[in-house]
Amino acid sequence: MFDFKMIINGKKVSTVETFDVINPANETVIAKCPMASEKDLDDAVEAARKAFPSWSSTGEEERARLIHAIGQAFDDNAEELARLVTLEQGKPFKGFAGLGARFEIGGAVVWSHATADMSLPVEVIQDNDDARIEIHRKPLGVVGSITPWNYPLLIAIWHTVPALRAGNTVVIKPSEYTPLAVMRAAEMINEILPSGVFNVVTGDGALGAAMARHKGIDKIVFTGSTQTGKKVMQDASSNLKRLTLELGGNDAAIVLPDVDVEKIAPKIFAAAMINNGQTCAAIKRLYVHESVYDELCNSLAEIANNMVSGNGETEVDFGPIQNRAQFEKVCAIAEDAKARGARFLSGGEPGKGPGYFFPVTIAVDVPEDARLVTEEPFGPILPILRFSDIEEVLEKANATSVGLGGSVWSTNTERATHIATRLECGTAWVNNHAALQPNAPFGGVKESGFGVEFGTDGLKEFTVLQTVQIAKK
Ligand code: NDP
Repeated sequence: MFDFKMIINGKKVSTVETFDVINPANETVIAKCPMASEKDLDDAVEAARKAFPSWSSTGEEERARLIHAIGQAFDDNAEELARLVTLEQGKPFKGFAGLGARFEIGGAVVWSHATADMSLPVEVIQDNDDARIEIHRKPLGVVGSITPWNYPLLIAIWHTVPALRAGNTVVIKPSEYTPLAVMRAAEMINEILPSGVFNVVTGDGALGAAMARHKGIDKIVFTGSTQTGKKVMQDASSNLKRLTLELGGNDAAIVLPDVDVEKIAPKIFAAAMINNGQTCAAIKRLYVHESVYDELCNSLAEIANNMVSGNGETEVDFGPIQNRAQFEKVCAIAEDAKARGARFLSGGEPGKGPGYFFPVTIAVDVPEDARLVTEEPFGPILPILRFSDIEEVLEKANATSVGLGGSVWSTNTERATHIATRLECGTAWVNNHAALQPNAPFGGVKESGFGVEFGTDGLKEFTVLQTVQIAKK
């Protein structure tokens, strides 16, 4: 049983009340974690506020050096961190196409180093006889990070490393389902950074809500459901906190008639099933032109039928769904699709347990009003929909309240790019999907949230702009 503590002002803190962390592969308790009180949160925020003047005035080069050291610590301890992610999240250590827990830790290393090397130099927008006008980017103060359970460590790094790089201090609350890798990473970070710069508190959704309301926090960066994102936005109005909200999506991919099916099938499969489908920007609705529909469905089913799901501690392609509520949601969505006439070319029936196992499922003949099409299942089940007219399919792809990602697949990249730009989403891919990298801004439109992560645009989100006008006459 793991025994991690919160870290407040550089010190390990435990509580009398705890909550259980469950391994979703066998439903056993693997840790009891502290249930933070509002007083613990106040202490963490106060520590972060006290650490802010010194951290924000630390030189750019020194902050970059320390963040590189964090990336190095993750690299040095990658096996241990990946094991924690497998145990608490369920994803296999290696997994299908190498996209498992080790990949997640690799991402945390890459993003840490890439972000360490970013900077926001003063911008001069005018320098003439009248005046010199400069744009400065200053840190906001205390950043509160609220993270989900699908990529426990990677999303925590996406939130907090740019916050630190820009000169802010941090209080992070990982999901109650998956707090362990973040708690262990926080120990490593606290060996590198001064006390109070990086604090971790653990608890349930009520703690997240208390953070969103807290007047000592200047910004919340949140990844999770649209429903909870809306609550965060309401609570954040207490002191007009800045917000970055990365909420769910229901990404459409459109496959045009001129594709090479054999070539694209493995790529589409990976982009739909990455992390067992528990990925905000995975393909969630696959629209395929009628001329290649059967061929692509059969190719995807063949790949799916060769996949092995099981305990992520063993050599499997996919692990369990992360938690019981999500597992039940996926089961209900599959049942609804079946009841409405969908056919499953692979999978479709949940495992009997223990563990929240649902096989990789390819669904065809799914009506547009099935929950599998209108909602984000956030699990390993992909609906494949037939189309004949490009205008009609664009309308369907955009007929949703969310807009995170989207893609178009074709051998004619010019035409595909033109169509992709008509998708209402934050990132439009051509012949790819769900591919993220540290220098390319990523964020949603519509109810997928606002603000972006990554690149210098992402770094700017952790700053406030100050215009400095120096009169010369
Ligand atoms: P939530 O949005 O509820 O949880 C995300 C984070 O918010 C967790 O840390 C959670 O804490 C915290 N939280 C919960 N309630 C509040 C609140 N009122 N104020 C502030 N923070 C809060 O996601 P769920 O786990 O309930 O998943 C539901 C659905 O969300 C999924 O089915 C999926 O569709 C979507 N989702 C999208 C993700 C994405 O990457 N965009 C990631 C995860 C889920 P705690 O976990 O401790 O309750």
